[in-house]
Amino acid sequence: MEKRSDHLHVYFLPMMAPGHMIPLVDMARQFARHGVKATIITTPLNASKFSKTIQRDRELGSDISIRTTEFPCKEVGLPEGCENLASTTSSEMTLKFIKALYLFQQPLEKFMEEDHPDCLVAGTFFPWTVDAAAKRDIPRLVFNGTGLLPLCAYHSVMEHKPHLNVESETEEFIIPGLPDTIKMSRQQLSDHLKDEKETPMTEIVKDIMRAEMTSYGAIVNSFYELEQNYVKHYREVVGRKAWHVGPVSLCNKDNEDKAQRGQDSSFCEKQCLDWLNSKEPKSVIYICFGSMSIFSSAQLLEIAMALEASDQQFIWVVKENKTNEKQDKWMPEGFEEKLKGRGLIIKGWAPQVLILDHDAIGGFVTHCGWNSLLEGVTAGVPMVTWPLSAEQFFNEKLLIDILKIGVPVGAQSWSQRTDSRVTINRENIQRAVTKLMVGQEADEMRSRATALGNSAKRAVEKGGSSENSLVSLLEELRKRKSSSN
Ligand code: UDP
Repeated sequence: MEKRSDHLHVYFLPMMAPGHMIPLVDMARQFARHGVKATIITTPLNASKFSKTIQRDRELGSDISIRTTEFPCKEVGLPEGCENLASTTSSEMTLKFIKALYLFQQPLEKFMEEDHPDCLVAGTFFPWTVDAAAKRDIPRLVFNGTGLLPLCAYHSVMEHKPHLNVESETEEFIIPGLPDTIKMSRQQLSDHLKDEKETPMTEIVKDIMRAEMTSYGAIVNSFYELEQNYVKHYREVVGRKAWHVGPVSLCNKDNEDKAQRGQDSSFCEKQCLDWLNSKEPKSVIYICFGSMSIFSSAQLLEIAMALEASDQQFIWVVKENKTNEKQDKWMPEGFEEKLKGRGLIIKGWAPQVLILDHDAIGGFVTHCGWNSLLEGVTAGVPMVTWPLSAEQFFNEKLLIDILKIGVPVGAQSWSQRTDSRVTINRENIQRAVTKLMVGQEADEMRSRATALGNSAKRAVEKGGSSENSLVSLLEELRKRKSSSN
């Protein structure tokens, strides 16, 4: 713990979705370990997901706490308890959820009135926090939950609209002005980015972009060595300040922290570790598609059949389908029994970082959510890339074309969360899994991934690129505070 020279107080307001909350809570903990007073603002149900971790940090001397305010479910017509984006099951619910985030302005401003924080780090889906911070003359840092390459790619597509110069959904175009040649097709962009018609998200996205451009800067869960050209590009071409302080998952040092990250999965900590301890190094593939994706029964069946045919050992995380589709018939008769010993299926929430960090893990099948990508990189494992939506197709390019530590499964287009189609068949899944785990190309990818994993760990150590970036941000904020006193 560093000595507190003065008491900088930073507010953290994470968007209530696992992919945003998990890294921002880790980041608040990192700030607190650097002598900052950190306060996380969230709702009671979301607070319960990380309150034990915060309590442990407090016992270890961190000045970190949580302030809660109710989620306005009733006001926007969401069912009671729907306080996290992962609980929404349709696009109508998602939209109501995002609109509800605008109603946090009043309670946040009331808290700020009482606490006088010196800085506000807020999720991108709270664009109004720019005004809330301006009223108090404090900096607002935006946290997008993604990396610098996807942010730069997004800005370029918004500005140059290269997708309007192609004839079809499948024809490729190059994203203009980026440090690397990155090719995409229109079917890999979100509806609002395609800008072809006004969607209910159009105004919200404009609001978000305006807020990003008028923020003090961005704080990013990434590290310099991972995407150095984009650190420069974001500053020089997009024209915004950014501090890269990741991988933030590395602040979880012991198994208890790792098992309770995002949600308490201590119950399967022992089961996973016992199972993994019985396996050879780098012999198991881990399959998980983040916190939001829901696969149809038909798609799950394709994955099951591919895993069976691949002959590989695996841990596969299957999320409950909370939509109307029945998900009870996907598992082939006797599948779990037959593959006992070779495969472990976790239904629900898995302790992802705990699993990835285990020596026995040799590969990761991922949807390329930014956190999963970074956690895979940090663990030093190559990945099968299966992007589904959001900015995941941009993230895939980083793994495949730039870092060369991935095998694409062949996903071509955005899929909706409740998609009932089979988008990738069993042959393609099996082919990618085998290519990732077996052969010379696999070995080469693995050694590149190991080297990158080592540089991720060095980045957050004393003198490392992320540690330096965080220290310089804190110095700047402290200077700002003392000059305004
Ligand atoms: N995660 C986890 N267990 C699960 C599913 C997800 O710990 O069963 C964590 C994962 O480690 C990551 C986050 O949830 O930190 C998911 O974020 P990501 O950006 O990868 O994907 P999203 O869920 O936002 O699509």
